[in-house]
Amino acid sequence: MDAQLLEIRDEVFRRNPGETEFHQAVNEVFESLVPLSARHPEYADAAILQRICEPERQIIFRVPWVDDAGKVQINRGFRVEFNSALGPYKGGLRFHPSVYLGIVKFLGFEQIFKNALTGMPIGGGKGGADFDPRGKSDAEVMRFCQSFMTELYRHIGEYTDVPAGDIGVGGREIGYLFGQYKRITNRYESGVLTGKGIGWGGSLVRPEATGYGAVLFAEEMLKTRGQSFDGQRVAVSGSGNVAINAIAKAQALGASVVTASDSGGYVVDEAGIDVELLRQIKEVERGRISEYAERRGASVSYVADGSVWDVDATVALPCATQNELNDKNAAKLLASGLVAVAEGANMPCTAEATAMFQEAGILFGPGKAANAGGVATSALEMQQNASRDAWSFEHTEERLTDIMVNIHESCAATAEEYGMPGNYVAGANIDGFKRVADAMLALGVI
Ligand code: NDP
Repeated sequence: MDAQLLEIRDEVFRRNPGETEFHQAVNEVFESLVPLSARHPEYADAAILQRICEPERQIIFRVPWVDDAGKVQINRGFRVEFNSALGPYKGGLRFHPSVYLGIVKFLGFEQIFKNALTGMPIGGGKGGADFDPRGKSDAEVMRFCQSFMTELYRHIGEYTDVPAGDIGVGGREIGYLFGQYKRITNRYESGVLTGKGIGWGGSLVRPEATGYGAVLFAEEMLKTRGQSFDGQRVAVSGSGNVAINAIAKAQALGASVVTASDSGGYVVDEAGIDVELLRQIKEVERGRISEYAERRGASVSYVADGSVWDVDATVALPCATQNELNDKNAAKLLASGLVAVAEGANMPCTAEATAMFQEAGILFGPGKAANAGGVATSALEMQQNASRDAWSFEHTEERLTDIMVNIHESCAATAEEYGMPGNYVAGANIDGFKRVADAMLALGVI
C-alpha cells in the first residue's frame, strides 16, 4: 500500500476505534486499490476513499420487548446506511448476540461493492440487533420484530432503504417485520423489504439465491481450469439458508458434499448430505446439526466443538460467519488437495487464510462476488414488486445465473486489466469500487 492509501486507512481506523471487523474489511479493499489509485488520481482529488468509508447515516436505537415470562428485555438495534450513489441502500438485517456497530459496518461496507458488482441499481447498507432468536418462542420473536420495526420504519422505504434477511433473520422474521411496517404506515409497500414469503410479494428463487449463486460462481471459476463440480469432494460450513442451498446446488452439479455445521459442531456424511433431512431439522424444526447425525444413522459422524475445516475436501464453501476459516484451517485444506474456495458467507476467511489460498494458486472467490446472488435476487424481487408481477422459478433462476456469470466475467476481466490475472479479490474490489466511485464523482460532493 502506498503512503497516501496508508494515511487514509489509518485515519479510518482512528475514527472508528475498536471496530476490528470493519478495519479488516477496509484494509482488504485498500490493499486491492493500489493499481487503481495510480491510474485514477481524480478519485483522490474528490476524496472518494474518505467519503466511501464514512457511512452516509448510522442509526442506533433501543429495542424494548416483553418476554413470555412477562419480563422486559432490552436489545440494541442498528441500521447503517452506507452509500446510496447507485440506488437505495440495500442489505440485510442480522439478529445475533455478537452484533455491534463494527460488524454492521463491515457488512455494510462490503455490501456497497457487492451490490455494485451485480449491475443492479442498489446502494449499500446493513443492520441488525444483538438479539438471539435461538431458543425464543415465535411470540417472543414477533414482539421483538414489532418493536424493532417501530423504530426502523421511519428510516426505510422502497426508494430509501430496503432491508432483507441475514444470520438469524429468515422468512419468519421478515414476515413479522413487514406486518408491523404495513400496520404503522397503512401502506402495502411490498418493495420496502425483500425475502418476503411467496404468497405476499416474495420472489421465487430468493431463498435459494445466495447458496445457488455461490456455487454458480465457483463453477465459473472451475471452468477456467477445465474443471467442474462434477466429482468434487465438497466441505460446507453452516447449516442455515446459504449453506443448505449451496449444498443442494453443488450436489445437483454432481459433487459429493460431505459436511455441514452449526456453532455447536459439525457432521461428516460420507454418503453425501441428505438435504431434505437437513432442511427438515434446521428450517422446519429449528433443531441442531447434532440431530442430523442422530437421525441419519451410523454412517454419519458428529464432532462437537471441532472445526469443519479439518475434513479433507477439494472444494470448500464457507457459509456460516466471518473469520471462521483461519490460517491453520487453510494449511490443512491445502494439504488435502484443495482446488477452490468460494465464500458463501461474508468474510469467512481471515486475511491470512485468504493470502495462503492466493499464494498457493487456488481458485478463490471472495464473498462480495461469490455471494452476491442473494442481493441480486432481492433486486429482482424489487423489480417484480414495482411491476406488480411474479416471475416463474425458471425465469428467475435464469436471471440469477446470468448475473453470476457476468460478475465472474467482470471480476476476471478487471483482474486481468490491472495485471493480476486470476485474482478475484482484486478484480471484485477494483470493479465494485470503480462503479461506485464514478457515480460519486458524477453526483458531486454530497
Ligand atoms: P442463517 O442464520 O440461516 O445460518 C447461519 C449459519 O451459520 C447457522 O448454521 C449458524 O449456526 C452458523 N453460525 C452463525 N454464527 C456462527 C458462529 N459464530 N460460529 C459458528 N457457526 C455460526 O444465516 P445465513 O445462512 O443467511 O447467512 C450465513 C452467512 O452468509 C452470513 O455470513 C451472511 O452474512 C452471509 N450472506 C447471507 C445472505 C442471505 O441471502 N441470507 C446473502 C449474502 C451473504 P447456529 O445456528 O449454531 O448459530
